[in-house]
Amino acid sequence: MRRVFILFLLPLFLYAYEVKNGEVLLINLDNNSTVRFENHTLPVFQNPVDKSRYFSLLPIKYRQKPGVYAIYIDDVKKPLHVESGTYKKERIKVANSKVKPDPKALKKIYKEYKDAMKIYGTFTPKRYWNKPFILPLNSKITSDYGNARMFNQTLKSFHSGTDFRAKIGTPIIASNDGVVVIASKRYYSGGSVVIDHGDGLYSCYFHLSKILVKVGEKVKQKQLVGLSGKSGRVNGPHLHFGIRLYLEAINPLEFVKEINALFKGKK
Ligand SMILES: [Zn+2]
Repeated sequence: MRRVFILFLLPLFLYAYEVKNGEVLLINLDNNSTVRFENHTLPVFQNPVDKSRYFSLLPIKYRQKPGVYAIYIDDVKKPLHVESGTYKKERIKVANSKVKPDPKALKKIYKEYKDAMKIYGTFTPKRYWNKPFILPLNSKITSDYGNARMFNQTLKSFHSGTDFRAKIGTPIIASNDGVVVIASKRYYSGGSVVIDHGDGLYSCYFHLSKILVKVGEKVKQKQLVGLSGKSGRVNGPHLHFGIRLYLEAINPLEFVKEINALFKGKK
């Protein structure tokens, strides 16, 4: 009797979560549990398909060191293995002004950065979406999320989104329902649209040649938000698609895959 009991519980103890740095972990929950990672309590949401179930999302920072961490679900410790994303390196040549901005440009960059961080750090306690996320266009990927980048042999950064091939004027559509929170021309990201999907989640559409929405406007999935272009720090026309969750810039393609799992097979 006792042995049966232990065997029954064993899979529960052995279960470990796995995620790569820069990706999001979807945690499915049977109850409205308390979920903690490091010193944070993560928001818990109702499953959009099965209202008796819940889920939580844990974005792992790009710079999170690979290793074993712990997630606590109602104070039960579960191991979390953070694997290395093994991201590639790439060299990009852009206009020098986009690598060594003059003092006036630096002021603009700083203000845009502060404004954007304030927006990404805002948690709208409401979910605007209730269906799977889609990509803003169907096209070839020209640069993956997470690539370690060297601009003009000097500036180092990492690619915070996914780039899609898009000739100037390609229609760009909203990945899901939400409210427009940025619709302006910015120094690095050029013509930019950012949509608040609620609950700390944002999608970003950069380097546009034309912006077709306004701040405060409610948008529906598939609604045209702009036309692609080559504005900002670029070496050619493309669309940069990004996802921000609780401030973190995470892999947008992996995000779409993870979150859309909520809509598959669980009734
Ligand atoms: Zn990009």
